[in-house]
Amino acid sequence: MTTPRLPRARNSLLRWLATGLFALATAPAVLAADARPAVTVIRAARLIDGRGGPPLAPAAVRIEGERIVAVGTSLPLPAGARLIELPEATLLPGFIDLHTHLTGRSDVHWEDALTKTTPPEEALWGAHWAEVTLLAGFTSVRDMGTNWPYVDVALRNAIEAGAVRGPRMLVAGAYVSSTGGAGDAAQFSTYVQVPLVHNLADGPAEITKAVRTNFKNGADFIKILATGAVLSKGIPPGAQQYSDEEIRAAVIEARRWGRDVAAHAHGTEGIKAAIRAGVHTVDHGSGLDDEAVALLTAQTVPATYYVPTLALLESNLDDGDSKTVPPEELERMKSLRVMAEGAFRRALAAGLPIGFATDAPVLPHGRNAREFRTRVRLGEAPMAALVSATRINAEIIHRADRLGTVEAGKLADLVAVPGDPLADITATERVGFVMKGGIVYRDELARRR
Ligand SMILES: [Zn+2]
Repeated sequence: MTTPRLPRARNSLLRWLATGLFALATAPAVLAADARPAVTVIRAARLIDGRGGPPLAPAAVRIEGERIVAVGTSLPLPAGARLIELPEATLLPGFIDLHTHLTGRSDVHWEDALTKTTPPEEALWGAHWAEVTLLAGFTSVRDMGTNWPYVDVALRNAIEAGAVRGPRMLVAGAYVSSTGGAGDAAQFSTYVQVPLVHNLADGPAEITKAVRTNFKNGADFIKILATGAVLSKGIPPGAQQYSDEEIRAAVIEARRWGRDVAAHAHGTEGIKAAIRAGVHTVDHGSGLDDEAVALLTAQTVPATYYVPTLALLESNLDDGDSKTVPPEELERMKSLRVMAEGAFRRALAAGLPIGFATDAPVLPHGRNAREFRTRVRLGEAPMAALVSATRINAEIIHRADRLGTVEAGKLADLVAVPGDPLADITATERVGFVMKGGIVYRDELARRR
């Protein structure tokens, strides 16, 4: 594994003398640049570029700084360039997960977090899981909320500054829930107060204010809980928890800021209300029925996308990963599973563009790629699943100009897996090479010269 080198003390000292405290702010950028040679050429057995066409074999990609500048079957190696050879591997765009909770731990039920953990604890674990997620091949995530509001904003900023190793993050800040709804974490005695957490909003006026407060404090998008949740003592997952008018209030205000609303939604009525209100993504989407599919098919821009989270069901129900899930919530998960898998097959049959997401740590952090295996088992072609986690997800987060495919001009976010993932999709669970923005974070597959 390549570790970015520490900045030279001489430079830091000069900067410190010249610019005082600003030296601290600029040091991480120096660290990142030091670890990235001017030119890199990667050669691999094949390339799946994220656009859905046949793989390129053999493949070569030339990187300058943080960007891809050329892609071909063979490229010359300029003098002084770094060569990375992956002769048995498939190169792919960095994977994107649209639904993570990087600061969440699978060994602490989120409803216990407010009484048993602290924001600094969550931040430190978040830094750990961010690295775990990056090393699993996920170079970008949309993070869907924290127990302690805005810890995700701090984590995103620390990663961007080069102080923490992790994926590019879009963050929700303080997700917005109704009182007694799926995101009402204060499921303890009414005499216990957690005054630092303000994520409950009821009625359009409070929701509008919650949206503004989130954006003021650094959120990239808004997460609302349109229905109940499986892992919650609040309203049942099938029930719509926000009225149509309340969901619309969130969308109207977010659009004023030029940003999106992502809606957690399991129940059918909540899904349809969220689509009609114009949310950008319906996450989980377990109760997606024919009418909901028709609504999605009929829409024009700005589009609503269906973003299922399916592997967590197998992980918790079959693999025994459910360390902290109480038995009654596992029962809910069982009944939801039939519905959620049916919804996915329905969306596939309709040819909808489908987002790729995991809800980690409900699926354990670092095992995000297991979602590929589940989706292929449910009938999706391996190539379609790979395109979902790359090009389609980049479109959903409005980063298609920079991310999601391996093409000249895009950021050099690349992963490699042993063998051919089109023949065996579980190869995605054995990522052995990770590059983000031209910096190598993992290189167990490379042949060295
Ligand atoms: Zn979630």
